[in-house]
Amino acid sequence: RQTYYASFRERPTVTLDGIHPELVSNIGSPQEAEAAAREGAEGVGLFRTEFLYMERSALPTEEEQYAAYAAVVRAFTPEAPVIIRTMDIGGDKELPALELPKEDNPFLGYRAIRISLDRPELFRTQLRAVLRASAQGNVKLMFPMIATVGEWRKARAMLEDVKAELQTEGIPFNPNLETGVMIEVPSAALMADRLAKEVDFFSIGTNDLVQYTMAADRMNPKLSYLSDPLHPAVLRLIAQVIRAAERQGKWVGMCGEMAGQPHAVPVLLGLGLHEFSMNSLSVPRTRALLARLDARKLRPLAEAVLELDDPGEVKTYIEERIPWIR
Ligand code: PEP
Ligand code: MG
Repeated sequence: RQTYYASFRERPTVTLDGIHPELVSNIGSPQEAEAAAREGAEGVGLFRTEFLYMERSALPTEEEQYAAYAAVVRAFTPEAPVIIRTMDIGGDKELPALELPKEDNPFLGYRAIRISLDRPELFRTQLRAVLRASAQGNVKLMFPMIATVGEWRKARAMLEDVKAELQTEGIPFNPNLETGVMIEVPSAALMADRLAKEVDFFSIGTNDLVQYTMAADRMNPKLSYLSDPLHPAVLRLIAQVIRAAERQGKWVGMCGEMAGQPHAVPVLLGLGLHEFSMNSLSVPRTRALLARLDARKLRPLAEAVLELDDPGEVKTYIEERIPWIR
């Protein structure tokens, strides 16, 4: 089976009915970008930039960030999409350079875009580095933990500001840099129709979306029965997000672990997900799986599972119709 999957590293991603979903990787460093390229990822659906900020006492400089982003771009062909996510630190991930206050509920706390908007100097440095890297390839930008339309607008306004600054300085960047938001907070999923009017794309972060929807800490093993992305409550939110984006002609990806889970893939394909981003080791297996699926025929299956009661029923329903799924 491993050799069979490995043969999919070099093939194009195509379903039985000729759809080409994008199959890309989640990475956390330039080294991981190279590994992802070797596994046959078509680019990067989520570059977690936290590594630049963790376990060090000073904030990363613009040059340092630019070097890391450009290195990731170079790991792939020039057209390959590379989605850089601004830093998602705080909560459980420490940021020694800022001495963040200890919080009772770190996952509900001062984190990610909430810090970036509150610390413009830190955010602007990162935006400058991303914009400069956008002159080197097909870079896209996304913001983590967006909970409101207002947060998105503030982040975008800062981006426009930084663009104007680079323009004045004569520093090259892509003025049409695609800019999107992660959908990982239920409020953003519920407001997806509003957000879709303004963003270029969504990327659904199911790791957090599941924990916030089910009110179950994603790290707590006692609560693992609640942390199943195949819960119809989660699937309904995902379906709603994809529909909202489609109505505005925007594309939707997923960069939570769910995107590479065999039972989830047919459902997501049936719902019309455009981009699947996962840890690079899952890429060949998922490409092999997609090659055996017919997106059009999966639409009724995807609709039907939204009407079931729990993840167990969803799994059984999928296995009855796709017995070879594993
Ligand atoms: C997610 O929440 O699904 C996600 C991809 O972000 P992270 O795992 O980095 O929180
Ligand atoms: Mg997240």
